[in-house]
Amino acid sequence: MNLEDSLGDILRKARISNQVDPGTAAGEAGLEVAEYERLEETGVAPEGTRFEPLGRRLTLSGPRLAGIARGWRPEPVDLTQWQCLEVITTAGEGMTVNAFLVWDPVTRAAALFDTGFEAEPIVELVGRHQLHLTHIFITHSHGDHVAALAPLRGRYPSARVHSGSLRAPKDQRLVAGEVISLGGLRITHRETPGHAEDGVTYVITGWSGDAPAVLVVGDAIFAGSMGGARDQLPLARDRVLGMILSMAEDSLICPGHGPLTTVGQEKTHNPWFP
Ligand SMILES: [Zn+2]
Repeated sequence: MNLEDSLGDILRKARISNQVDPGTAAGEAGLEVAEYERLEETGVAPEGTRFEPLGRRLTLSGPRLAGIARGWRPEPVDLTQWQCLEVITTAGEGMTVNAFLVWDPVTRAAALFDTGFEAEPIVELVGRHQLHLTHIFITHSHGDHVAALAPLRGRYPSARVHSGSLRAPKDQRLVAGEVISLGGLRITHRETPGHAEDGVTYVITGWSGDAPAVLVVGDAIFAGSMGGARDQLPLARDRVLGMILSMAEDSLICPGHGPLTTVGQEKTHNPWFP
C-alpha cells in the first residue's frame, strides 16, 4: 500500500499550516517557484532540492523529508502477532479509508473501529469468523470514517457505539478512564484532537501471546505523515507526541488511511515528529 501522503502532500499541508507562501518555500528549497509547485503536485523532488532549509521553514525534519523523497515506506508489520485483528479498506469519494475489526478468540465478542464506506465487508467478516459485534468505536466523526455507521447499526442494533464527539447522543459519549473489556482484551481511549476536534485514539491491550498494544489512531498520525490540522497543528503534534509516540516502540499503529506502522518506525522516520 502506498503512503497516504506523498512528499508533495506533506509539504503542502505543512506550508499551509505554517502560513508560508510557495515563493518562500521555493526559495528555501533552492527551486524556481514553478518547480516547487510541481513538487507539491507530483511529489517528485528535482535533483538538488535543499531539504534542510525547506524543512526548517516548514517545521519538518529535512533528513526525513529526504527519506520520503527516496521512497521510504514502513517495514511491513507481521500481523500474525495479533491473530484476531482484521483491516478493512474501502473506497469512496476518490479515497480509501481503513476500518479495523478485533475480537476475543474465546467469547467471539468483537469490536469495530470506524466503519469506512461500506457495511458489507464488515458483515461478511463478522459472519465468517462467527462473531458477535458488541461495540463500534469511532475515532472521529469525519464522513469517510463513519459513512457505514447507519447500516451497521441497523444490522447490529445491540452494538454499543462510542464516540468522542460532544454532539453524539449522551449514551454514546466516551467516559474518561473507562476500560471496556472484550473477553480478555482491554480497550481504553486517549484524546488526540487536532486533525478533528473529537479525535480519539483507542488503545487495545491484553492480546494472547503478549502481542504489543494496538493503537487505532484515526487520522492523528499516518505512516510518514499526519492528518491535516490547519491552525491546530501545534495541538495535534503535542497530542501525538504525548499520547501515541510515547507508547512502547513495538506498539502497532493502525491509521485511518495508508499502511500500518509502529511507534518505533514513526519515531525514526516521520518528518512531522523529529
Ligand atoms: Zn479525518
